[in-house]
Amino acid sequence: MKIDIVTIFPDFFRGPLDYGIVRRAKEAGVVTIEIHDLRAFAHDRHRTVDDRPFGGGEGMVLKPEPIFECIESMEIAPRDQRGAAQSVILLSAQGRRFDQTVAQELAALDRMVLICGRYEGVDERIGEFLADREISIGDYVLSGGELGAAVIVDTVTRLIPGAVGNEASTRQESFTAGSGLPASEGPDSTCTSGGLLDYPHYTRPAEFRGMPVPQVLVSGNHDEIRRWRRKSALEKTLRNRPDLLDGVELSEEDKHLLAQIRAEEKGIAI
Ligand code: SAH
Repeated sequence: MKIDIVTIFPDFFRGPLDYGIVRRAKEAGVVTIEIHDLRAFAHDRHRTVDDRPFGGGEGMVLKPEPIFECIESMEIAPRDQRGAAQSVILLSAQGRRFDQTVAQELAALDRMVLICGRYEGVDERIGEFLADREISIGDYVLSGGELGAAVIVDTVTRLIPGAVGNEASTRQESFTAGSGLPASEGPDSTCTSGGLLDYPHYTRPAEFRGMPVPQVLVSGNHDEIRRWRRKSALEKTLRNRPDLLDGVELSEEDKHLLAQIRAEEKGIAI
């Protein structure tokens, strides 16, 4: 996938995209990331990219011309002719909220352009006529789109086939719905999260400063481990994100485990 990032702070991306999976994906040619300095598309001596808002009010707004010209300098079709494999995305607090489902959609693209706003935002004509979608990374206001772009690049890259060594591991994490591995694939397989939060992970030492790992994990009993992980995932989801449970297809075992969790909370054993 080719990823282009449009920003007034190109140096911002030195670092965030140079580690771990994203770095390896770049080295392996799974993704190519190009950072475009918006100021290179300004025409005046001061390389001005912002201006005061029409109608008055606080702050400055990123002007449309440099952003349009920057996108037009890339080999990317105009909005009305853009195929499903390309997307020009405006980072915006007013956008659709980014989540794992959106990340999966984006991971199927060949080309993704991310426009980072600053100040009070960008001229609305960017969202109306140039970008084909607006994405928010959460219900809060950042001072710029750069952190959002880094979040999107990181999340999307690790979903591109070939980016992560063990693809099963990305199918087994929090929020990953409807991608369970067949039960025959081993003890972890039915713990594929199926829309729940991930189960807790432990590694050696088995006891650290008087804190032991759950006994079941060192028992070698694969079925009990699987059940414990599923129950822990349900427990954590119920505690931290009960809203997610509405979207999960619960098995008979899940329902039983949930009843058990609820009973335990009330101090009743079942
Ligand atoms: N006035 C705007 C906020 C502008 S913040 C508003 O109230 O909605 C400046 C820039 O930061 C935005 O143009 C956008 O690119 C980026 N930004 C702010 N919050 C964001 C969020 N939650 N997700 C993605 N980008 C965000």
